[in-house]
Amino acid sequence: MSTGFIRHVDRRRCFALLAGIAVASAPSGTVFASAHAAATAEPRIDAARLQATLEQLSTFGRPAGGSFADGVSRVAYSDADVAGRAYAMGLMRDAGLDPHIDAAGNITGTRAGSDPALKPIVIGSHVDSVPGGGNFDGQVGSMAAIEVVRALQEHHVVTRHPLEVTLWSNEEGGPIGSSAAVETIPAEALERLYSGVRMRDGLLKIGGDPDHLALARRAPHSLHCYLELHIEQGGVLEKAGIAVGVVDGIVSIDEYDVEVKGFANHAGTTPMGERRDALLTAARVVEAVREIATRAPGRQVGTVGRFQVFPNAPNVIPGRVLLSVEFRDLSAETIARLGAETAARLQQIARETGTEISMVRAIHDDPALADVRIQKQIEAAAATLGLTTLHLPSGAGHDAQNLAKLGPMGMIFIPSIGGISHSPKELSRWSDCANGADVLLRTILRVDRSNLQPAN
Ligand SMILES: [Zn+2]
Repeated sequence: MSTGFIRHVDRRRCFALLAGIAVASAPSGTVFASAHAAATAEPRIDAARLQATLEQLSTFGRPAGGSFADGVSRVAYSDADVAGRAYAMGLMRDAGLDPHIDAAGNITGTRAGSDPALKPIVIGSHVDSVPGGGNFDGQVGSMAAIEVVRALQEHHVVTRHPLEVTLWSNEEGGPIGSSAAVETIPAEALERLYSGVRMRDGLLKIGGDPDHLALARRAPHSLHCYLELHIEQGGVLEKAGIAVGVVDGIVSIDEYDVEVKGFANHAGTTPMGERRDALLTAARVVEAVREIATRAPGRQVGTVGRFQVFPNAPNVIPGRVLLSVEFRDLSAETIARLGAETAARLQQIARETGTEISMVRAIHDDPALADVRIQKQIEAAAATLGLTTLHLPSGAGHDAQNLAKLGPMGMIFIPSIGGISHSPKELSRWSDCANGADVLLRTILRVDRSNLQPAN
């Protein structure tokens, strides 16, 4: 039994939280004289228009002969992705944004603020989907970001900071577009296939420039903050009857490759007492992961999701099993402890079963914490709309985890009915979509008046 951490991959860095909120007084020329006046005078998004754009976006990548309920396959770099992106760019033009595509295929458009010296408030999400996906993942945040700009236009509200809408390319593949904004994508990665398309060709197809990907890089502290509205993709908000989720951060992930070595032998002639059955041992590993993940209170999760049995024949005692063990939590320390406990337990199981078990960490993702000041602004924005809020971590990855490397980040969740996502059955109520967009709009107006010090 060996436990080495030889393939440690740091894909995110920890984001330092800053304490305290400094709220600047509203500058002359804005429509908001005070927080109280703002509660009644602040603009609202157009719920019917938001719904119409989501329904229209759903036609790009819809199964032939299907309806909205059949979801979408708008996989990055597909014809449907190109068509959906073109539709979104048209909406951005209608909203007075002048969209352009950067080298990584991200679509960006900016609305000028009243103070050109200030850094932009960046909002957005993604319009690509998984194969056989739903109509809400990424799409709610994307259409709401554009709707927010239209609402500001119609209400003649000019923010102090420039307001940038960015629709990140190929979120489901990595996320790729937002990764290119914060780190160097190795050249060999461009040769990999994504859904049958070489990444390089895919980027060219959506208007990117794979030979100059570095142009898509953004500097740390180059934005005032990043805000993303997204569906929860879990069932916590719906079960609790809460309208708006205030995301604490995106969880840290430790993924391990585990190998169990037993002895392959004849299934008919080897007595039960003389077997070293790798699959039987692996089954105990699966149970141990669940037991370790659930033993202490908290929101940590542990999963064995990949399982390969060798030789995988009905008449052979399994001699070898490969499996994955994954832990997620907002605290990197917590999942490191769970990993250490698992490693110790696996040694014990190996001794008891006469097998060998190795456990190697394959992936480590640091948590991406949401800025506490922005969390408070999201809560306050929801309160002015009479909406209930609940703090929760995001167990899924988002573009926001990359943007947190550049500046303060905040995420707003709306309920997912039944907690279903990455499925045509993915569903959020239209009223929740509208609420989320209104919270996004009001959060923008609040952070626009806030002095968010640069992250260190
Ligand atoms: Zn998403």
